[in-house]
Amino acid sequence: MPEERELVIVGSGPAGLTAALYAARANLEPVVIEGLEAGGQLMLTSDVENYPGFPDGILGPELMTKFREQAGRFGAEFVTADADRVDLFSSPFGAWVGETEYRSHALIVATGASARMLGLESESALLGHGVSTCATCDGFFFREKPIAVVGGGDSAVEEAIFLTKFATKVTIVHRRDELRASKIMQERAFANSKIEFRWNSVVEEVVGNGRVDSLKLRDTVTDAPSEMAVQGLFVAIGHDPNTKLFEGQLEMDENGYLSLPHAGSTRTSIEGVFAGGDVADAVFRQAITAAGTGCMAAMEAERWLEAKKHAEATAAAT
Ligand code: NAP
Repeated sequence: MPEERELVIVGSGPAGLTAALYAARANLEPVVIEGLEAGGQLMLTSDVENYPGFPDGILGPELMTKFREQAGRFGAEFVTADADRVDLFSSPFGAWVGETEYRSHALIVATGASARMLGLESESALLGHGVSTCATCDGFFFREKPIAVVGGGDSAVEEAIFLTKFATKVTIVHRRDELRASKIMQERAFANSKIEFRWNSVVEEVVGNGRVDSLKLRDTVTDAPSEMAVQGLFVAIGHDPNTKLFEGQLEMDENGYLSLPHAGSTRTSIEGVFAGGDVADAVFRQAITAAGTGCMAAMEAERWLEAKKHAEATAAAT
């Protein structure tokens, strides 16, 4: 027998958990399919300095624990597993976690985004053996070692700065000759004596057998190859939205981000399905904006459920 609910929320980053908090406080008793890697991208972050309310900053995982506790306090229920399949063409909607089937009248998608990889065979072969996408998780393993970070955005610079706590030297390898990162982050990186830059360079191969020994680089201007000895590579080149589960059902843009066709609303292309956070936001991608749109999604879901009930009651009475 399927479990029938008013609202299912898929995802448990700032968007999913804020949606859960608002929905729980509206007595919708939401089920949050939180994923095996619950908590979203902030679980892979160290200090969060730009989330309002924490003047001294807070660790990403600690912030997400607080989000979860707060939603749980009002009755949100958590399923610590990935959703395997959804059916958004039926009513109520279906969501499956293994053999368990959830049916809900409204659904909020808050599955976020995931780290992008370079796509090299050697990179995946050495992932977890010197190649990482998470400085907070793995920085500790690179004490007193030279390492490289690839990318030129805020993520790359933030990771590089964090990694200087451990590494002897951190080289930022960037494919252009200027960073995309915000000015304040750039200034911090340029002022850090442990950080060096390898401009106009791409990683062509991660060299090593069971561990990283060096990187084969190519100069994007001169085409000259070079090799750089490092013992770790952190890939920080952006993110892709986690929308595979919804392919063929919800409309998406060319990069796979969910389309929200109604301005100022979290409504997706299917009535009753709402989206919050990075899964539908390629622009801002901040914890605070994700929390904001998660709140909007829950409020819109609640209003939609109310309107649906009202319409059904009116139809039954006539
Ligand atoms: P991003 O801004 O999209 O930057 C990605 C970087 O990786 C760019 O420099 C890009 O190069 C490079 N890149 C992309 N694909 C590549 C490839 N295949 N090979 C080599 N290099 C590649 O991504 P992000 O740094 O993850 O930041 C995402 C958003 O989150 C931004 O809005 C950022 O401000 C925000 N953010 C904020 C903070 C903070 O405020 N503390 C921390 C992290 C992220 P090009 O520059 O040449 O395109």
